[in-house]
Amino acid sequence: MTNILEIKGVNKTFGGLHALRDVNLEIYEGETHAIIGPNGAGKSTLLNCCIGKLIPDDGSVTFNGNNMIGVDAHDINHAGMVRVFQTPEIFPELSLLENVLIPALAKRDGTFKFNPFGDIFNEKEIREEAMATLAEFGLEGFSEDHAGSMSRGNKRRLELAMGLIQKPKLLLLDEPTAGMARLDTNNTIDLLKTGKMREMTKVIIEHDMHVVFSLADRISVLARGHIIATGSPEEIKNDPKVKEAYLGEGDHE
Ligand code: ADP
Ligand code: MG
Repeated sequence: MTNILEIKGVNKTFGGLHALRDVNLEIYEGETHAIIGPNGAGKSTLLNCCIGKLIPDDGSVTFNGNNMIGVDAHDINHAGMVRVFQTPEIFPELSLLENVLIPALAKRDGTFKFNPFGDIFNEKEIREEAMATLAEFGLEGFSEDHAGSMSRGNKRRLELAMGLIQKPKLLLLDEPTAGMARLDTNNTIDLLKTGKMREMTKVIIEHDMHVVFSLADRISVLARGHIIATGSPEEIKNDPKVKEAYLGEGDHE
C-alpha cells in the first residue's frame, strides 16, 4: 500500500484553542478516505494544513514523499493536491467551456496569464480536453451556456470538472453534498463513483453518513481535534469510541 499523503503529529492552535491535537493520518493511493466528526472537530483546519492555507504549529505533512509545510498553496496545487471548495467556485458570467479552460490553462502554464493579443481559449487540443472533461460529467450539451444559469446540480458537476481537468493526484472534497436535496446528493455520489472519479484518490469531509458509507473505503473520525479512530466503514460503525463521540449523538448533521 503506497501512502500518497502522510500527516504526522500535527498540532494547530488558534490563540488558546487547540484545534488539532497530535493528528496522524495516512492516505493510501487509490482510496476514498472520509473524514467525519462533529461540527468544530477540526476537519477544515486539517484540510487547510494540507493545502498550504494554514501552517501547523508542529508535525509534518508529506505528499508523494515531499514536505508540504511552508510550501505555497499554489505550488501544492501544482504538485497535484487539489481541493474542491464547499461553495461552488465557478465563474458565473463565463461559459461552462471557459470555466474548465481556466484551471486547465493555469495548470499548464503554472500561472494563468491573459494574453490580450491571442485567443487562449481557441487552442484545439486544450478545447478538446475541456470538452471531454465536460462530457465526463454529462455537461457537453451546455458548453456554451453561462455557468451562472445552471442548476445547482450542474454547478456541482462543473466544479468537479474544474477539479478533474487539473489531473489531481489527490482530490480533497470539503462537504461535497452540503445543502443538497437527497436527489442531488445521490447524483453526486454517483458522479464520485463512476468513470475517472472512481479511480481517483479522494479525501472527503462529509457530515452526511449516507454519503460517507456509500463512498468511503476507509473512514477517520475526528473529535475535538484528535483522530479517535481510523478503519473500514464496518469497523467505524462498530467502534464504541466513535459511537460515543459522534454517531451516538443521534444527530448526524
Ligand atoms: P470543522 O470543519 O470540523 O467543523 P473547523 O476546522 O472549522 O471544524 O474548526 C475547528 C475549531 O477551530 C473550531 O472551534 C473553530 O471555531 C476553530 N477555528 C477554525 N478556524 C479558525 C480561525 N481561523 N481562527 C480561530 N479559530 C478557528
Ligand atoms: Mg468545516
